[in-house]
Amino acid sequence: MSGGDGGSETGADDRGRDGDPPADRAFVCRECGRRWYYTKPRCPDCGGDPSVHGTEELGAGEVRAVTRVEVTPGDVRSPNRLALADFDDVGLIAQVDGDAAVGDRVAFAGSFTLREGDGERQPRLRVIEDGK
Ligand SMILES: [Zn+2]
Repeated sequence: MSGGDGGSETGADDRGRDGDPPADRAFVCRECGRRWYYTKPRCPDCGGDPSVHGTEELGAGEVRAVTRVEVTPGDVRSPNRLALADFDDVGLIAQVDGDAAVGDRVAFAGSFTLREGDGERQPRLRVIEDGK
């Protein structure tokens, strides 16, 4: 990890300032089993409030689409590669390390602050070979 791309790495298993789960976990509703990624006040299916929300580790996903942003703000890496990935029923968009292609398997590489001083951390993905 060179650290020269404008992001600072933090462990994937520590919590954000606001109590968000680590980047490699999805929310799960204990009432109906629905899973989702981004913080929501209510379950999208049954409306269950956060008292019935747990988290689950996501494991490996599959790339559905990729894009490269060539022109980025000065404190964001360039090019900024992004991938839309599905982890079973949970979809998310994240930065991806290296070149990813549609159909590649990906796993979480940790979460990163996109910009210095930004309290919000973003997940980053890496392409994996079978099982690694
Ligand atoms: Zn639910």
